Amino acid sequence: MRAFTYQRASSAAEAAAAVARAPGAKFIAGGTNLLDLMKLEIETPVHLVDVNGLGLDKIEGTPDGGLRIGALARNTDLASDMRVRRDYAVLSRALLAGASAQLRNKATTAGNLLQRTRCPYFYDTNQACNKRRPGSGCSAVGGFSRQHAIIGASAACIATFPSDMAVAMRLLDASVETVRPDGSTRVIPIADFHHLPGNTPHIENALVAGELITAVTLPRPLGGTHLYRKVRDRTSYAFALVSVAAVIQPDGRGRVALGGVAHKPWRVEAAEAALPQGAAAVSARLLAGAAPTHENEFKITLAKRTLAAVLAEAKKG
Ligand SMILES: Cc1cc2nc3c(=O)[nH]c(=O)nc-3n(C[C@H](O)[C@H](O)[C@H](O)COP(=O)(O)OP(=O)(O)OC[C@H]3O[C@@H](n4cnc5c(N)ncnc54)[C@H](O)[C@@H]3O)c2cc1C
Ligand code: SF4
Repeated sequence: MRAFTYQRASSAAEAAAAVARAPGAKFIAGGTNLLDLMKLEIETPVHLVDVNGLGLDKIEGTPDGGLRIGALARNTDLASDMRVRRDYAVLSRALLAGASAQLRNKATTAGNLLQRTRCPYFYDTNQACNKRRPGSGCSAVGGFSRQHAIIGASAACIATFPSDMAVAMRLLDASVETVRPDGSTRVIPIADFHHLPGNTPHIENALVAGELITAVTLPRPLGGTHLYRKVRDRTSYAFALVSVAAVIQPDGRGRVALGGVAHKPWRVEAAEAALPQGAAAVSARLLAGAAPTHENEFKITLAKRTLAAVLAEAKKG
């Protein structure tokens, strides 16, 4: 690990300004992703700004009947919050499908949204990787690509985004609240938060340098049946090959989103219009344009079957 300086911030605005001031500085929250990347020298921040003391860990109701989740709320606390379990159960289920209990105790809401891909070539500094070093090439294209994206990828990067939580948040139309280094705030719809790789796979989200996530808000509850099914190589403690988040209403209408298949949580609102026609019709629209490699074309079948299983389960109520 390279040497770095460290400070504890005492306000959100101070934290944002401190990261913007020092080129290569980073926020640290739970540290469960960032510290691993620093040990491998994939991330080499010269300065760390600790945001754990900012009181951003509250989960509270909003005036319009939704929920505001502090950026530092731990994954364990969010998954076990009674309002989340009752009104946003898909989020609770997605969180509990992720990582391990120990990791969830440390991992935060913002850190989870900003975790980096688990592409093995990204983690190997001997390999070319456009995400790690822009312009160096992509070892996964033509390489071992079993875990990689089947949709929304580019010639520059075929990585997937590994978060379970974010798939549920995308389904629920969450918004990301931030403060920028000049003290101004903004709200980013989660649909616009994560980027597809295109020619700039190193630019993974809509944040500017020094922009601090302060909270994630959820709109009013949707009702319906909430399901999250994650398919992985081991029963637990593994990232998704494919996951399906769904909120299905008694009349068969609803929402679906996929994880493990793209560089961002994959939701196609137009596909949801086909829900009354059944899983095959939804899958056809959701996965239109999919371009798997020969090693991961199984994900298409897996996504279709997992979606069908989730919709069948939803029918039981
Ligand atoms: C072995 C292992 C298994 C895992 N399995 C899963 C899994 O199955 N599913 C899953 O979804 N996740 C999984 N994870 C990932 C885990 O959920 C993330 O590491 C965790 O959510 C990151 O949160 P953190 O608070 O520790 O982030 P950190 O590591 O502290 O930070 C991550 C990034 O976010 C930035 N950041 C943190 N807070 C803010 C903020 N408020 N504003 C702006 N930037 C910020 C940091 O600068 C850093 O770039 C696993 C992790 C490990 C180590
Ligand atoms: S898929 Fe993306 S993260 Fe993986 S090696 Fe290629 S550029 Fe890097």
